[in-house]
Amino acid sequence: MAAKIIDGKALSVVIQSELATDAALMLKETGSRPGLAAVLVGDNPASQVYVRNKQKACEKAGFASWLHKLDANTSQGDLLKLIASLNNDPKVHGILVQLPLPKHLDTELILDAVTPLKDVDGFGPENLGLLTSGRPRLLPCTPHGVLIMLQRNNIPISGKHVVVLGRSTIVGKPMGLILLQNGIDATVTICHSKTANLKEITRQADILVAAIGRPHFVTPDMVKPGAVVIDVGINRLDDGKLVGDVDYDGILPNAGFITPVPGGVGPMTITMLLHNTLLAAKLQSKSK
Ligand code: NDP
Repeated sequence: MAAKIIDGKALSVVIQSELATDAALMLKETGSRPGLAAVLVGDNPASQVYVRNKQKACEKAGFASWLHKLDANTSQGDLLKLIASLNNDPKVHGILVQLPLPKHLDTELILDAVTPLKDVDGFGPENLGLLTSGRPRLLPCTPHGVLIMLQRNNIPISGKHVVVLGRSTIVGKPMGLILLQNGIDATVTICHSKTANLKEITRQADILVAAIGRPHFVTPDMVKPGAVVIDVGINRLDDGKLVGDVDYDGILPNAGFITPVPGGVGPMTITMLLHNTLLAAKLQSKSK
């Protein structure tokens, strides 16, 4: 039987409407909306699309949103000043610095400047440290979205072997850490470009998460029949088509579940950004 398709777009609609209800409640109780400030430096076309989609989602859910568009030549000092002012603005609950930044800017330094309770991307050392020490707070959006996709589709995770392809700080590594948390309880293997015998490892996966950025890298012979296949990859082919890291058509007939690209993990990433903004607003009001 062909794999069940996990529709990230449809799930996002459901979760974003739940978030809209929570935001309306917050407005009623406190007089303020959850607010996200996006910072876009330069004119990378893909980044412009991502930021626009995030803003649209905010507005639809009744969140406040602001876009700070800066020239590609903006100095590090000016960008740090903007972040400091957003850190101090009580209407702003989440700060999103759209990556990649132009080469002359120190990305780590800029991201570290975002105050941890407004770090809605969850990439900063404090939030990643809390996740590592088993006290998760603001989780990186993409791997959090993957977890929610699994849970909302009632896919068992506890005791299952999850193989994650990729060890980046924004997807692969936090994906592994999230799945290892007490109460989620997966057995996790993280693979990367130096992993030997990759196919032998991926074939053991009950759940395979691909986050490497190589079109159609995961082929049918790498997947155990019935496995859950989550495709995080977003790759643009020469003809302009967007594809994932997984050979979707080849794997569909024998997998248990599979996510499409587009329409899988991508929409969930935006949804979890909204989730984090609302959570950040609640955390900030508690810490006052
Ligand atoms: P990075 O380039 O930061 O990391 C890629 C990882 O894949 C690295 O750990 C690398 O290993 C590993 N890798 C590369 N080639 C191989 C190989 N042949 N075998 C095994 N491992 C390999 O990418 P990101 O994590 O930022 O993104 C991964 C993909 O996910 C991209 O397509 C990106 O566009 C997409 N993405 C999608 C999002 C969404 O919302 N759906 C959000 C974020 C990213 P090593 O460390 O050894 O170099």
